[in-house]
Amino acid sequence: MIATKNSPKPATSLLADASKRLEKALKYISISEDAIARLSYPKASLSVSIPVRMDNGSLQVFTGYRVRYDDTRGPGKGGVRYHPNVSLDEVQSLAFWMTFKCALLDLPFGGAKGGIIVNPKKLSKAEVERLSRGYVNEIADFIGPDIDILAPDVYTNSTIMGWMMDRYSTIKRQLTRGVVTGKPLSLGGSQGRDKATATGAFYVIQMILPKFNCIPQDTTVAIQGFGNAGATLAELLFHAGYQVVAVSDSKGGIYAPSGLDIPSVREHKYRSREMKAVYCRDTVCDIVEHRTISNQELLTLDVDVLIPAALENQITADNAPDVKAKYIFEVANGPIDSAADEILNNRGIEVFPDILVNAGGVTVSHFEWVQNRNGWYWTLEEVNQRLKEKMTAETQKVWDIAQTNQIDIRTAAYVHGLKRLGEAIDAKGTRDYYNTN
Ligand code: NAD
Repeated sequence: MIATKNSPKPATSLLADASKRLEKALKYISISEDAIARLSYPKASLSVSIPVRMDNGSLQVFTGYRVRYDDTRGPGKGGVRYHPNVSLDEVQSLAFWMTFKCALLDLPFGGAKGGIIVNPKKLSKAEVERLSRGYVNEIADFIGPDIDILAPDVYTNSTIMGWMMDRYSTIKRQLTRGVVTGKPLSLGGSQGRDKATATGAFYVIQMILPKFNCIPQDTTVAIQGFGNAGATLAELLFHAGYQVVAVSDSKGGIYAPSGLDIPSVREHKYRSREMKAVYCRDTVCDIVEHRTISNQELLTLDVDVLIPAALENQITADNAPDVKAKYIFEVANGPIDSAADEILNNRGIEVFPDILVNAGGVTVSHFEWVQNRNGWYWTLEEVNQRLKEKMTAETQKVWDIAQTNQIDIRTAAYVHGLKRLGEAIDAKGTRDYYNTN
């Protein structure tokens, strides 16, 4: 919550922490008080209960949320998360970040997010389908291709997005592809969307590290989270010649100082659901020398680059003093809390923030939405070319703001997004706007 004259005390902790970044950015930009007041609150928050018939015949009721933080620049846009720790506070914070991410990338979207309190690993595929369709039943009036558009996030995927689009279309009696992005290609998905978050992050890393004279072969990388974003990025970095020395998933991690063969690790994880340091030729995989590490150990390894790609609040005041990486690229949303941010900043560790680094996902979601509305589909080369142009152009602008004002990159990213949001809010009519026009 940003402190304004009439602001009540912040109601939530995660959102309040997220908003601290904004308060810092406000020192470097002139923005009307009306705009700040508007951005201090989520526009709308919906809480729903979702009855699901389980495979054993019982009825279980799940809790779900959808939050539209701001839609001044366009319809809400944001993923849907399935996780036992989902809360309204978390969904509001994620929607807040989406608002700034879309503005930063100059996408014609506001920010939104959704989630269901569930451990999907404990559900059968059919139960996950009924849950996903049930969620759309409850939020159908709150979403739409010009209102609020869904996408995948933690433990949701293209199959689930296909079910959600199908259910929404059934309710509305009209095929409505643009209400969901991240769909399967056969249901109107975009080429490149499955790898877009990682590809976008890769473009940012490839642009930034040379500024610090880092060359891939001499650069060690540790990645926390080996899902859609983390594993794909690990593979891109591996193929570009980086030494990816450690990776982890929810069960823990592996560390091999001489570097992991990421395609083999990925293949083995896909086949056995186990994270193992292996080297595979065809179907035969040999274990290579490595150390098993915890998720927390991974964060404090002596590496050049650390990439948190799992969940929020992984680096806090407790472990920030022990982080040894020189550069951190946030692929997860909110992996570093504001107290840790200060510590890392003071220690001279360069942090490249989520709202920039992981914006490739929403950028290609925008491409998918455009393609759905036009009925004209692009090749993978066209998608990646446009993604590269967008990511590198906005990264350069953020870098320039940081250099000009001598501020950290996160604050520069918020300054950049806030400027666009402030202009849009002012253009709708604020006290400052009427006084100066
Ligand atoms: P995913 O479900 O595909 O993967 C999540 C990964 O994190 C899994 O490997 C899981 O085992 C691991 N994990 C879960 N809990 C963990 C823990 N406590 N410690 C370490 N690892 C843990 O999810 P994803 O789509 O890859 O998303 C990862 C992060 O990236 C999230 O913060 C998400 O919000 C963010 N993100 C994703 C996208 C996207 O398009 N998928 C876009 C922008 C941001």
